[in-house]
Amino acid sequence: MDKKKITNIEVKKTNRNGVFRYICKHGTVSNPDISYNMKISLPTATQITKELIAQGLLEEKGELQSTGGRRAKALSAVANAKLAVGLDITQNHITLVLTNIVGEILKYERIHQPFVPDAVYYQKVSERLETFLDEGGADRDTVLGMGISFPGIIDPDKELITDSHALAVESVPFDSVSAFFSYPCFFLNDANAGAYAEGFHDEEAESFFYLSLSNTVGGAIFSRNELIQGKNFRCGEVGHMTVVMDGESCYCGKRGCLDAYCAAWHLSEAADGKLEQFFRLLDRGEAEAAKIWDSYTDYLAIAVNNIHMVLDCDIVLGGYVGSCMGAHLQELWDKVAKRNTFGEKEPYVKSCNYKVAAAALGAALKVIETFVSQI
Ligand SMILES: [Zn+2]
Repeated sequence: MDKKKITNIEVKKTNRNGVFRYICKHGTVSNPDISYNMKISLPTATQITKELIAQGLLEEKGELQSTGGRRAKALSAVANAKLAVGLDITQNHITLVLTNIVGEILKYERIHQPFVPDAVYYQKVSERLETFLDEGGADRDTVLGMGISFPGIIDPDKELITDSHALAVESVPFDSVSAFFSYPCFFLNDANAGAYAEGFHDEEAESFFYLSLSNTVGGAIFSRNELIQGKNFRCGEVGHMTVVMDGESCYCGKRGCLDAYCAAWHLSEAADGKLEQFFRLLDRGEAEAAKIWDSYTDYLAIAVNNIHMVLDCDIVLGGYVGSCMGAHLQELWDKVAKRNTFGEKEPYVKSCNYKVAAAALGAALKVIETFVSQI
C-alpha cells in the first residue's frame, strides 16, 4: 500500500517537473499543447498548470490563436520568479552570472581578482557579488542559491574540493568557502559547469564531450541531461591524457600531457597574452602564428580523435580557445578527419555556443535544475 502511494506521488512529481521543463523550453504554450506533446491527459495537464500558477511559477498570458474550436489559454513561465547566481573562480579572475528559471543570462561580469586561498579573498568576492546583485536589481528573496565553478576535482560526497593544481590548493571543505556567502552554495568542476551550460538549452544534445581549452585543459561528458562523474569524480580530465611519451613537462608534474601542448597560453603568449589578438594574427596570415597554430592543432587533433574513438559522440570545444577559434575550426577538423579510422564525413567537432561565462552560467543552471527537480 505504502509503495503504491509513493509511486503515485513520484509519478505526479515527475509529470509536474516534465510539464514545467516543457514550458520553460517552449515559451508560451497551452494545456492542449502540453497534453498532446507530453502524452498526458488534458485534465492532468490542466491540474498541473493550475498548481504551478498557484506556486507563482506560471502565468496566464491571454489566449492563443485558435485553429478551430475554443481558444486555449496561453501559459508561460514566470521567468524571474526564481534567480540563481554563478561564480567562476580562476587563477586571475572571477566571473559572475545572474540567471533566471528559464536560464536567461540577466547580468554578467568578469573582473580581475587573483586567487588567494584566504578569508580576505572570499570576503572581497562576496562583497563584489552583493554589489553585482544590487546592480542587477535582484530581489534576494528570489535567489535560490549560487553555483561555484572551481578548476579542480569536486567530491560532492565528502563535500570537498579534493585538489586544484591550477589554484595550488587541496582538501578544501565546501563549508570553508560557502561560509562567506549568504546563499546556499553548489560546487562544480569548471569543465563540468561549461558542459552543463552547453547541454542545458540543447534539446538535440543526446550526449557530447565538452573539451575545455582554457589556460588549463579539462573536459566533461554530458549524457542524457546529466554529467557523468566517474568513480573519483575525475571523469573527462583529458588535460592529463598522455599525447607524447615522455614529452613536455606538465604543471601536474608528469610529462607529455595534453595540457602541456594545448593549454590556451601556448597561443596567447605569442600575442602579448591576448588570445583574441593571436587569432587576429592568424586571420591576417602571419607566418609565426600559423606555425604555432599548426603545431597546436596537431596535438589537439590527436586528443580529439582519441576521445571520439572512446566515446563515439560529438566533441564541443569550449574554454578560451573553443570560444575564439571561429572559422579556424575547419583546420582542426581536416586533421581530425585524416586520423579517423572509419572515414566519418559528418563533422563531429563543434565550437561551443556559450563564448563567455559558460562555467559561471553552468554552475548557476545547476542551482536552477536542483530547484526544478523538486517542484
Ligand atoms: Zn598533466
